[in-house]
Amino acid sequence: MDLTLTPAEAAFRTEIRQFLDSELTADVRRASRLNTSFLAEPEIGLAWQSKVNQRGWVAPSWPEEFGGPGWSLAQRYIFDQECEMADEPHFRGASIKMIAPVLMRYGTPEQQDHYLPRILSGEHFWSQGYSEPGSGSDLASLKCKAVREGDEYVINGSKIWSTLAHRSTHMFALVRTNSEGRKQQGITFILIDLSLPGIEIAPITSICGTHEFNQVFFDNVRVPVAERIGEEGQGWEIAKYLLEFERGGSFAGGLLRAMHCRLLRIASRPATDGTRPIDDPLIAARFAEIATDIDANDMLELSSMSKVQSGGNPGPVPSSTMKIERSRIRQSITELTVTVLGPAALEWEPQRPLYDLPETSEAEEDIRAAAAIYFNTRSQSIFGGTNEIQLEIIARALFS
Ligand SMILES: Cc1cc2nc3c(=O)[nH]c(=O)nc-3n(C[C@H](O)[C@H](O)[C@H](O)COP(=O)(O)OP(=O)(O)OC[C@H]3O[C@@H](n4cnc5c(N)ncnc54)[C@H](O)[C@@H]3O)c2cc1C
Repeated sequence: MDLTLTPAEAAFRTEIRQFLDSELTADVRRASRLNTSFLAEPEIGLAWQSKVNQRGWVAPSWPEEFGGPGWSLAQRYIFDQECEMADEPHFRGASIKMIAPVLMRYGTPEQQDHYLPRILSGEHFWSQGYSEPGSGSDLASLKCKAVREGDEYVINGSKIWSTLAHRSTHMFALVRTNSEGRKQQGITFILIDLSLPGIEIAPITSICGTHEFNQVFFDNVRVPVAERIGEEGQGWEIAKYLLEFERGGSFAGGLLRAMHCRLLRIASRPATDGTRPIDDPLIAARFAEIATDIDANDMLELSSMSKVQSGGNPGPVPSSTMKIERSRIRQSITELTVTVLGPAALEWEPQRPLYDLPETSEAEEDIRAAAAIYFNTRSQSIFGGTNEIQLEIIARALFS
């Protein structure tokens, strides 16, 4: 693999840098650095999405026919790395990266025409309704029920851990339309407008102190059959397709590198006695190990993304391997960050979002955010399927 940039690619990188320099304000960069969650606060993320959308760059991985920029894999990689290094807010969550590929593959032309432009503009903001109380790893045991009455489904039950459902306009959900036969066969994939009567969204505060999840209750919610994706009972196949994108359908290396650079900045600040944490050989060695892991992850991502570029999906083994590696590296970085900052990082700041607090020095703000980011990063090896489940998927694919 030749990793040297061509002159055209170097010019493209300059264009991206110029755009980010002029459009990403200091306030937005600060909000990104102080974000304790894995997605930006919607007001920050959506305002930024609107600016990126005006340039036509909001969905780098989408085909041109649906509004993607038509970039090569190298351009997408460069764009991702530059956005992360510039502290772009993370807004490409369930909408752009998860439901959109499903609509492109399984949606009707009417569903594609209606939803995809609204996803690009940010008018529609989606959450994911897979998990239920008692149905996490064993997702196929889900019970939230949809009974067909004429041209509507009547939905009853609940979904849990629904990230940002309280700020979303829509949810894509798995519902049970049949209780007979294999449990995977009776599942249907449906799109739900969250403003419909009968929906209640109850907050759950996470260990890092933010309100990012919810439990969502459905009481006789009537959803048109036209909002079903694919056939009745095809939901399990569609759900698995979507999960490959959630686990490994986009670059994460840029973010890991940006987090690693931030760790270097923190570890290079001299203490009052003039010593710097990075000069401690144990910390330097751990730092170097993480750098090597990031390089290895980059190679894995590039080879997997080249499959997506040619119209495929990442495949279960690469996407599960990337999911494990990304979560492991993120956790290593945030763990080393709190180690470097020491006891000062343990003082708990309850205000959320942190960027609403008056501005202080960057060093103090790093300390304020570190523990909450560390706790939030614990969730990386749980959501999208736990690491134990990813290992099972890899083992099953390789040994069966
Ligand atoms: C930050 C965050 C955001 C999330 N956002 C969403 C969302 O937006 N929408 C959504 O639908 N869900 C969401 N989830 C839920 C997430 O998908 C589930 O937490 C995950 O699938 C695990 O399910 P569980 O929590 O019920 O744990 P369980 O399935 O109860 O697992 C508990 C433990 O047992 C282990 N285990 C279970 N089964 C096996 C097995 N067969 N072999 C080996 N070990 C096993 C697991 O690995 C885990 O360590 C989110 C979770 C988090 C943490």
